[in-house]
Amino acid sequence: MAAWLGALVALVAALLPGEHPAHRSLLLVSAAGAAALGAALWLSEARLTPLRAHLAVILATVLATLTVVGWGAERGYGTLAYTWVAVAAFLFFSGRLALLHVALIATAYGGVLLAQRGEIPANAWLATTTSLVGAGLLVSVARYYVAGLVRRLNEAAGKDPLTGLATRRALAEVFDVELERARRSERPLAVLVIDVDRFKRINDRFGHRAGDEVLSEIAQVIERSKRAFDLAARHGGEEFALLAPDCDEHGAYQLAERLREAVERHFARHQYGPVAVSIGASVHPVHGETLEALLAAADQAMYAAKRLGRNRVVISSAELETARTAERSGEERATVELAALVDLAEAVDRLGSGSASHCRRVARFAELTARELGLPAQRVEQVRLAALLHDVGTIALPDSVEQKAGPLSDEEWEFVRTHPVVGARMLEVSEQRELGAWVRAHHEHLDGTGYPLGLHGDEVPLEARIIAVADAYEAMTSDRPYRPAMSHDEAAAELRAAAGSRFDRRVVEALLRALA
Ligand code: GH3
Ligand code: MG
Ligand code: MG
Repeated sequence: MAAWLGALVALVAALLPGEHPAHRSLLLVSAAGAAALGAALWLSEARLTPLRAHLAVILATVLATLTVVGWGAERGYGTLAYTWVAVAAFLFFSGRLALLHVALIATAYGGVLLAQRGEIPANAWLATTTSLVGAGLLVSVARYYVAGLVRRLNEAAGKDPLTGLATRRALAEVFDVELERARRSERPLAVLVIDVDRFKRINDRFGHRAGDEVLSEIAQVIERSKRAFDLAARHGGEEFALLAPDCDEHGAYQLAERLREAVERHFARHQYGPVAVSIGASVHPVHGETLEALLAAADQAMYAAKRLGRNRVVISSAELETARTAERSGEERATVELAALVDLAEAVDRLGSGSASHCRRVARFAELTARELGLPAQRVEQVRLAALLHDVGTIALPDSVEQKAGPLSDEEWEFVRTHPVVGARMLEVSEQRELGAWVRAHHEHLDGTGYPLGLHGDEVPLEARIIAVADAYEAMTSDRPYRPAMSHDEAAAELRAAAGSRFDRRVVEALLRALA
């Protein structure tokens, strides 16, 4: 803005008839430079880093100095150009940094005086410098008052200034109203706690401003992905909370998963790298009666999500609470082992297909099915993990088998048939032995035609049947080198056709219901 005005003034002044400037061409150069600088600032407004802003002010100082030279140092008009630069410096930067820029201006002006007149007349130099500082200080004071006013207005409106979301206090006020409504109508009320994963790394790598930008983008994603009547709040530094009326555990899970996925997708190809969130959720009246209790329960669930490897949703549960208080060290050891295995499973997936999406998608379908079948929350989480890990045993397959496009030989088939056993063995050394049994049986069919053991009916654990259906559905609905993806309806028909022989009918229907 200041640069545009400066350009205009310099241009008009240079072209006006009357008194002749010493070097009209310098004035024109300076006007053109100021106009270009104004355009550059205007175009890059969103990406104006502190470094660029400093460079812009320094460039403006050079241009203003050209104006001074252009007019000739013995006339005072040129120094007016410096006023614009000083005001801009005080607008952009803290007082101390802006004073440094004024010092630079004073030096440049002194240099011009010295060059053109052979001396620095103290009165001219001092008058210019002090009026620059004076104008700048006025701008600073005005800026300070406006900032205070904006802060107070935001506070009064219950809005967090960085993200525009509700503040903690506003959340508490709305909660009281919603709690009353929930009690009266006997409807559930969910509270989600959303914490950014590894946020410190973003600050460390790209600086605090980048961190702030990420926070406000996450806030926008949450705002876009929630339902219209949910209230999103900034709950702490890099923590958000969501108040979701009329939402039970199932609904809270689906809502949280949608938010998690939206954040992941938004940052998938972002300049600050992938960013993810871990979400914990609790539901009134199951997990607590007050906001404090519900937030604490959701917090615990969120920490469980962190321990399970981050970028995931965990619903609060009584088991979670007892597991946490009872056997801390054992549980933590198991979690560390599992996290390592999850990493391995994702690595295997990437080797096979170039992305870690297969096992994640299978995990998601298995989780939805288990939840739909009414399994307890802890068990649902275990099924999800087992599904995530179901193919970890393929790490043992020779590359020739893994990457083969055509039909496999008998010998190669023998290898493939061992992968559930290998995966199961890897899991059985961890504390999650049950997961091993499910992974071992995820290629068994109810009619005894599966592998590795040819188990029948009830011999196949329910959890393994869930993973089998999720695995088949994922395979059918994703593109393969040898065939395009099937539509949901086609895949559903295929699953139903094999229900009763290969798959468990109840499990098939549960998945299709959950996806409906
Ligand atoms: P994780 O939650 O996955 O365990 O890892 P984390 O790195 O996010 O862990 P932690 O919660 O310890 O770190 C949070 C960091 O967030 C610490 C603090 O410097 C930073 N932070 C908090 N509030 C803000 C903010 O408003 N802006 C910026 N840029 N950083 C913030
Ligand atoms: Mg945190
Ligand atoms: Mg964090």
